[in-house]
Amino acid sequence: MVATPIGHLADITLRAVEILRAADLVAAEDTRRSRALLTHIDAFPKPLVSVNEHNERRRIRELTAKLSDGASVALISDAGTPLISDPGHLLVKAAFEAGCKVVPIPGPSALVTALSVCPLASERFVFEGFLPSRGEARRKRLRELDSMTLSIVLYEAPHRLLAALDDLLAVMGDRRVMVGRELTKMHEQVRSGRLSEMREQFAGEAPRGELVLIVERRERTTEQSISDSAERLLQVLLAELSPSQSARLVAAATGESRGAIYKRALASKPS
Ligand code: SAM
Repeated sequence: MVATPIGHLADITLRAVEILRAADLVAAEDTRRSRALLTHIDAFPKPLVSVNEHNERRRIRELTAKLSDGASVALISDAGTPLISDPGHLLVKAAFEAGCKVVPIPGPSALVTALSVCPLASERFVFEGFLPSRGEARRKRLRELDSMTLSIVLYEAPHRLLAALDDLLAVMGDRRVMVGRELTKMHEQVRSGRLSEMREQFAGEAPRGELVLIVERRERTTEQSISDSAERLLQVLLAELSPSQSARLVAAATGESRGAIYKRALASKPS
């Protein structure tokens, strides 16, 4: 599993170059894109096979058979680390189950790259990747993320940035956020401010390029937090009952503060 650059080609590691040159076969998300990278590092020509979200399941038998025959197969995604919001998990699982050796070749990932320049408190974080795109699934996930006292790392497409800032603001309040754009590329930009400030800035300029958002963790002092299990129960009850009824039942079931649960219920009850 070979990590490749997320922009700047010089970010490829020496070991990745060595492995890609030596591999019998390279499995790549997009073979055309990967040909350019392999050519850049003198690892081409080389047998290439595509592995993407549409065909990964179908490729498993073919690739695990090659591994079992002793071939070395390097898997790369379009950018960054395989499996991080990218294909590869089914193949890794199948390779493990077939008794094949799976070796990590670490390198760039947009997640870690963004965290490494984040001015917000983000030593403890949850990686969400792409949020569900819309509807109740999205609102539910945002409420779950809001209840955690961890910073939240999100991937987002540029045409959805404003909607994401709006939704984060509506559910989590005006927290601080960092927006990392086009990291390691020519138009790299890192901005940070309140969600409302970022909303205002980006509204005036039709954001382009690839984006990572880091939303600062909820401030523990401003609100008494409730446990994850209380939160889950609360969300189930809120679908049927009022905030006060739900809070009373969750407090009775978990022994946690009714006041804190009620506050949480008011904040998360869909309007
Ligand atoms: N596997 C990759 C990794 O390790 O980060 C992520 C792949 S995911 C399909 C692509 C998303 O990652 C983009 O939509 C964007 O949110 C983020 N991303 C990738 N490259 C980036 C960059 N150079 N700057 C900012 N975000 C980036």
